[in-house]
Amino acid sequence: MKIIMLGAPGAGKGTQAKMIAEKYGIPHVSTGDIFRANIKNGTALGKEAKQYMDQGLLVPDELTVKILLDRVAQEDCAGGYVLDGFPRTIPQAQVLDEALGKQNESIDYAVDVDVPDENIVKRMSGRRACLKCGATYHVEHIPPKQEGICDSCGSDLVLRDDDKPETVQNRLKVYHEQTQPLIEYYTQKGILRTVDGTMDMEEVFRAIVAILG
Ligand code: ADP
Ligand code: ADP
Ligand code: ZN
Repeated sequence: MKIIMLGAPGAGKGTQAKMIAEKYGIPHVSTGDIFRANIKNGTALGKEAKQYMDQGLLVPDELTVKILLDRVAQEDCAGGYVLDGFPRTIPQAQVLDEALGKQNESIDYAVDVDVPDENIVKRMSGRRACLKCGATYHVEHIPPKQEGICDSCGSDLVLRDDDKPETVQNRLKVYHEQTQPLIEYYTQKGILRTVDGTMDMEEVFRAIVAILG
């Protein structure tokens, strides 16, 4: 099964994608996580991506598409995957569709996690991330067992550089301009499914499982 997660920054795509990956036994592929791992390791790709990410802008399509296509060509993705944070533009979606089409494959579902802008800024300021293993928490809604420490790997949790309120406003603007058109794109293809992302984490997941089967 091949699934795309759509939704504003902070809507809960990553949180749900991890739960989907576990339940269905498929890899969770996050372009944001790949970029952050590269930044952490000081690679050339990381340095390039960081310039855009810190401003709340999208990393250019060329760079992002290459990284994503390389990742899904790996063996562990042969049985499907859940994409979190890709595609974010119509050209990215088109390149993905073309690449899949060549192998007579296609995306099964695009799941839109719908959360109004008003809720987003609050979610982002409370988000805490583990840069080592990619786990995500929320200081109020989804706290780690021990404050500031990752449950999964014991590393320190951080507020991401791009989760500051000023940057979040930019990211929301970019989302509405460049990413939201994908909702229409996947509606046209007949594979868009929308879930109410304002419910608690388990309820959102139940709604998604009802769709995926
Ligand atoms: P969030 O989960 O909060 O939406 P991500 O971790 O998915 O954030 O992405 C963080 C940043 O990484 C984005 O703001 C953007 O700069 C960059 N990025 C991630 N995925 C893409 C993509 N598909 N295209 C362009 N930029 C991307
Ligand atoms: P995205 O990947 O869409 O940017 P995340 O999954 O990282 O979003 O979630 C953003 C923040 O909101 C995180 O701090 C996360 O712990 C929290 N969160 C995720 N789902 C919910 C939910 N259903 N209710 C409340 N908070 C949530
Ligand atoms: Zn961790």
